[in-house]
Amino acid sequence: MARRKKIYEGKAKILYEGPEPGTIVQYFKDDATAFNAKKKDVIEGKGVLNNRLSEFFMTGLNQIGVPTHFIKRLNMREQLVKSCEIVPLEVIVRNYAAGTMTQRLGIEEGTQLPRPIVEYCLKNDDLGDPLVTEEHIAAFGWASQQDMDDILSLALRVNDFLSGVMLAVGIRLVDFKIEIGRIYDGDFMRLIIADEISPDSCRLWDIETGEKLDKDVFRRDLGSLTDAYTEVANRLGVMPKNSGQFSKPTLIN
Ligand code: 5GP
Repeated sequence: MARRKKIYEGKAKILYEGPEPGTIVQYFKDDATAFNAKKKDVIEGKGVLNNRLSEFFMTGLNQIGVPTHFIKRLNMREQLVKSCEIVPLEVIVRNYAAGTMTQRLGIEEGTQLPRPIVEYCLKNDDLGDPLVTEEHIAAFGWASQQDMDDILSLALRVNDFLSGVMLAVGIRLVDFKIEIGRIYDGDFMRLIIADEISPDSCRLWDIETGEKLDKDVFRRDLGSLTDAYTEVANRLGVMPKNSGQFSKPTLIN
C-alpha cells in the first residue's frame, strides 16, 4: 500500500492526505502538551478517547445544522474530515470564569458569567496565542466583518449544544476553544467547525463535586487524565464499557 503523505504534524494530531480530493485523515496522538508545550507527556489512550469524543460532538453538531469538517471515523485513532483553510484564530467561549480569564481579570474561578463571553486569540505559538480584538482581526485581515458575525453565531450555537449535552450527564461546560475553517464551493465560501472538540479543548467540571474532567488534570497534576476523559466518554455513552482501560497486559498466575 502506498505510504500516505503527511501534510502537517501538530502537538496532538497528525494530518495526512485523504483518499479523495478535499479530504484529510486526522490522526489523534497520545501526546499531551500544556503551557505552549513547556509541559509534555504521552498519555496512553488519550488519542483514542479524543477521536471518539470529537466524533460524538461533531456528529451532533452536523445533525443540528452546525456545519463541521467531520465526515466519518475511520478507526480507533483516525477520522476523515473535510480539507479546509483554517482561520488563524482560536475562538474561546466562556460560561464560568477559569484559566486565563481568572488570571487576567482577577475573577474568582468558577464564577458564573452574566452571559457567555466570546474571546479571540491569534493562533501563533511563538507569541503564545495572544488575545486579540475584532479591531485587530479586521485591520490585519484575518477575517472579514461578515466572517466575524458568522463565527460568533457558530460559537454560540456550539456553546448551547455542548452545554446541553454535558448538563444532561451532570457535567458543567465551563469554557471551550474551537477552530474555524473555510471551505470553497466555486466562488462560494462557507465557515465550518474544524480541528477537534474534546476534553483537550474544553473545561468540564462535575456538577455535583466540581471534579475536573479535562486537560486541567494534566496541566495541574490532578490525577489520571485517561481516567478523567474515560469518565466523560462513559457518561456520554461514547466508549464501549471496557475500552477505557488502557493498562498494559499483565500476567495472570
Ligand atoms: P484559557 O484561555 O483559559 O487558557 O483557555 C480557555 C479554554 O480554551 C480552555 O477550555 C482551554 O482548554 C481552551 N484552549 C485555549 N487555548 C488552547 C490551545 O491552544 N489548545 C487547546 N487544545 N485548547 C485551548
